[in-house]
Amino acid sequence: MAKISIFAEPSFPANIDKIVEHLNRMPHYIKFRAGDMPILFAGGLINQVEADDQLPPELKAATEKDLRAILFTQRAYSDNYFYHSVGNRVIISLSDWPYLTNMPINNGIVYFIANIIAHQVNNDFRHKKTTGCIYDFKVKKRAIDLGMRNAFVCPDCLQRIFTSKLTQNQLQYLHDLRFILNDLGSASKWNEDIVDYWENSELEEVREEQEQLDDLINVADFIPDDDTYNYIDITNTTMKDLLKSYVYLMDPNLSIVNKGPALEQFAKHFFGIIKGWKLEETNHLLPDCEIDLIWDIVGGPEKLKERIKCDLIFMECKNLKSAVTARHISHFAANLITHKIRTGIFISSGGITGYNPMNWKSASKGAYKLIIDLHKSNGTAIIPFVGEDIEAVKNGANLAELLEKKCMRLHMV
Ligand SMILES: [Zn+2]
Repeated sequence: MAKISIFAEPSFPANIDKIVEHLNRMPHYIKFRAGDMPILFAGGLINQVEADDQLPPELKAATEKDLRAILFTQRAYSDNYFYHSVGNRVIISLSDWPYLTNMPINNGIVYFIANIIAHQVNNDFRHKKTTGCIYDFKVKKRAIDLGMRNAFVCPDCLQRIFTSKLTQNQLQYLHDLRFILNDLGSASKWNEDIVDYWENSELEEVREEQEQLDDLINVADFIPDDDTYNYIDITNTTMKDLLKSYVYLMDPNLSIVNKGPALEQFAKHFFGIIKGWKLEETNHLLPDCEIDLIWDIVGGPEKLKERIKCDLIFMECKNLKSAVTARHISHFAANLITHKIRTGIFISSGGITGYNPMNWKSASKGAYKLIIDLHKSNGTAIIPFVGEDIEAVKNGANLAELLEKKCMRLHMV
């Protein structure tokens, strides 16, 4: 796993530990680490080589294998540049910050982390003029202000990136860059400190999780009868399990902590009615990873298997009141890509942002746009499965056929 270590001089007025903590909570490939060795640059102005020479040899040794070691100082470079690098080490000067922008300096830290990652994705080009794009050279240092507020990759640079041959690693850095820029832009547009922004959004998520069970999938009257399922060969035991897990899902005494597992339990029996699908022990297969359910579909319906193009399928169950966002999808996608699984099913009782099953061709926003983008960029297929789909099956739709149709549509966009 690629690592980026971040250091700052002791007097540096930023909250590196918090920044690292939150970056690591995002869906990410790159692992961030707050450097625990003190750095201090002697003298007034610094320059590239001398500054690097002053770094302790232990620090260089400890960060040798990192993708990057980023070191922040408030001292100015003699050439007044923002940064210089030696090897994998980048020393970034945020001197005279208040004269450049009124943005909190934490945002500046995150901006430069994004900037360094952007150059790992593609290092062919810099804008000489200020455009606000992350690939701006920033001849005028005040351009940093617009850079943080915009936090974007301009259309020309996007095209350059997507038409270049990206390695698997570069695809992963691009994935991380997207999340970091999205959050940085959202905070900076309102002059909000990025750390506060992260802490507040987390509170919001906790509130969301605490919403009542009432607004979950409206399946109170969902008592499947044998007729509904007569297209598939199910044993009485499966039906009994399905009913049992359904009763569990609808238990009004269900605590917030158990809401997720309840949907997982339900999905286990619901998808278990597909003839030939076999549930795998998740802990046994992937001790390091939090995949809700893994199905071995080798013995399953032939046509569906052809569409899925994989022997295993990962399944994620989210039982939130509101629709899942790109953040959730991305986390799941990371697990699929890392384990080389082509297709996953994302079950969300509260829906998926931007998802319109009637119009697959014009996904323009939200989590669904990410699903389409992921499929276009590396073939990863995430099949959305929402409350309405459970309803459809309840009303007689064939579950295997429904999945097959969803795969087909996704492959067509
Ligand atoms: Zn650009």
